Amino acid sequence: MSFTRHWREECGVVGLASIPGAAELASLALHALQHRGQESAGITSSDGHRLRTYKKMGLVADIFDEENTKKLQGDYAIGHVRYSTSGSSHILNAQPLQVASHRGAISLAHNGNLVNAPELRVEMEASGSIFSTTSDSEVILHMLARSRAIACEDALLELLPRIKGAYSLLVMTRDRLIAVRDPHGFRPLCIGRYKDSYVVASESCAFDIIGAQYLRDVEPGEMIVLGDGELSSRRLGVQEKENCCIFEHVYFSRPDSQVFGSSVETVRRRSGEILGREAPAEADLVCAVPDSSNTAALGYAKATGLPFELALIRNHYVGRTFISPAQKVRDMSVRIKFNPVKEVVEGKRVVMIDDSVVRGTTMRKLVKLMKAAGAKEVHLRIASPPVTHPCFYGIDTPVRNELIASSHTVEEITTYLRVDSLHYLSRDGLLEAAGDGDRYCDACFTGNYPVSFAALDQTEFPQQSAGVNIQVKPLPSD
Ligand code: SF4
Repeated sequence: MSFTRHWREECGVVGLASIPGAAELASLALHALQHRGQESAGITSSDGHRLRTYKKMGLVADIFDEENTKKLQGDYAIGHVRYSTSGSSHILNAQPLQVASHRGAISLAHNGNLVNAPELRVEMEASGSIFSTTSDSEVILHMLARSRAIACEDALLELLPRIKGAYSLLVMTRDRLIAVRDPHGFRPLCIGRYKDSYVVASESCAFDIIGAQYLRDVEPGEMIVLGDGELSSRRLGVQEKENCCIFEHVYFSRPDSQVFGSSVETVRRRSGEILGREAPAEADLVCAVPDSSNTAALGYAKATGLPFELALIRNHYVGRTFISPAQKVRDMSVRIKFNPVKEVVEGKRVVMIDDSVVRGTTMRKLVKLMKAAGAKEVHLRIASPPVTHPCFYGIDTPVRNELIASSHTVEEITTYLRVDSLHYLSRDGLLEAAGDGDRYCDACFTGNYPVSFAALDQTEFPQQSAGVNIQVKPLPSD
């Protein structure tokens, strides 16, 4: 397995309208959104006449320097960081996607996953469209190109009701920035004020870095049009029940962000407190699997009265380091990233908090490291319910039978992980932490998918159908 303890967020987007030096600010904002995608990054700018796009594979800091950012002239810009779910990891699929159309140049940046993109693509290819990427986002560009509507925003209002799934979408023409969130509102998108104009971004931490102020979310099913310092709002003609991704609060978003109108820090801390009430442990200390679980661990410590200790240190400087097969056997993939602090854990009963467990292979190795460092007992507490189903709405997930909780009981997982006890936060507890539980998608915990994906090409996703009896996957050994 690759060294991935988590599911991966797909993308982050940012857009600036009527702001001098928009591309420079967009590159700064992309630094703040880097956690949402580390495979490629790109920016398109507009000077009112011409769109210019620069994108590459790699990290924002390695792609955008003073020289190439200065070439992206104009007061409008959209930026994108990507990790692929739909479409392979290749520069052709990097975004923004810029094309020429009968309305002039258009550029698009998308966070999400369109569940009926394969069908739409086949339909358009049959009638002559030639696709140049394998990304689902290109389907929207082809539909835009085919629309006879004169204004881009009218074309989007015409075509988006045909698209199913998750999209937080930015579309830029030479003098307009359009931001749309799908009617379910799966992925986040918020609006900020920058001097006398506006910015939009996946998370509000992108506003903080450029000195913009968070105003509000783009509502599910809302289209925002920004131009000449003005903001206008229109509605897509489709209304659906709101289904914001609860995993944004569990793991994907940064704790210093506002997401879906709530502070991620507050929701995460509350989930730790509720977990502490639901599943206290006879122990000496609480620690987090850093960094994503720090806030929940602080909440757990507060609720239980146990001291919070920095018992596990994460190496922040590890990239995609090459690890030989022989090293993998010796758990090097985990050791290179995490190291227990012997002086803290030796002889202690430790409660370890993590936000989620996907396959369980990394956690098993972490527990082994903690015990080797002298921990007398390791009690694992997970600040979300067992993940039993994959995501189809813009998150990269393994197939269902690779999710340990899809086919194994908590008792079996406890034995496999070699922990002294294991408890997950209840679904009710997570929804209570999030506030208004009715607003959220929780399909990865329940299999209750709010948008059908029956039309997906089952040859490409053979094991991902909800409701299909899956084979019990044997638990992997070290
Ligand atoms: S299935 Fe899970 S990860 Fe996907 S949108 Fe729903 S809550 Fe988020």
